[in-house]
Amino acid sequence: MATLFISDLHLDAERPGITALFLDFLRDEGSRADALYVLGDFFEAWVGDDDDSALVQEVAEALKDVARAGVPTFFMHGNRDFLLGRDYARRAGMRLLPDPSVISLYGRPVLLMHGDSLCTSDLAYQAFRAQTRDRAWQQAFLSQPLAARRAFAQQARAASQAHQSSLKNKGGMDALTDVTPADVEVTFARYGVDTMIHGHTHRPATHVLDVEGTRRTRIVLGDWYEQGSVLRAWPDGRMELSTLG
Ligand code: MN
Repeated sequence: MATLFISDLHLDAERPGITALFLDFLRDEGSRADALYVLGDFFEAWVGDDDDSALVQEVAEALKDVARAGVPTFFMHGNRDFLLGRDYARRAGMRLLPDPSVISLYGRPVLLMHGDSLCTSDLAYQAFRAQTRDRAWQQAFLSQPLAARRAFAQQARAASQAHQSSLKNKGGMDALTDVTPADVEVTFARYGVDTMIHGHTHRPATHVLDVEGTRRTRIVLGDWYEQGSVLRAWPDGRMELSTLG
């Protein structure tokens, strides 16, 4: 048995193949896991727990089945689905985890994050992040009718794509949308852990670095655009980052 970590699925009705890949993974490996952690950007967009679309219902039911099978499942918000709330988490049988969280993974402390808070070089994004994590902003958004929220999400997606392509055109994409190395070091030191797991950058890799004389490992989960990505962790301390599908 293993503990499973995934992120950045960006589940979307427009990509049914990825939803099917996730549901197969969930029913097969997920239902036998020691625990399942979803580290944000699970959904491409989240307009509120009252979203009645077929996709969010189907995913909630499949997750609930896994929870009923006795597998603890956890969800941390990403920058796309930061409005996913307690109602949906309850329906899906998931526990909400704050970003960041230190968990005990088979007795060893591990820091979990979505990863966007480490990308401090992208100032426009950080300003958007600060605005949308504000409680008053969130309450104002959620008080709008569902149709208006869906329209806003569509606009936000277009704006995000325009922002990404303007970064690409300026040649700053690589540096701006990856983590800031100094922030990684500060974060390792602050939490006193030697292992960090996050997603967001869509750059799956295992980085080993030395911070304050200690060997630290930063594992970056991959996105689920063309295939799946999963990190499996076993009780003996082994960890393996793989692609799926
Ligand atoms: Mn993200």
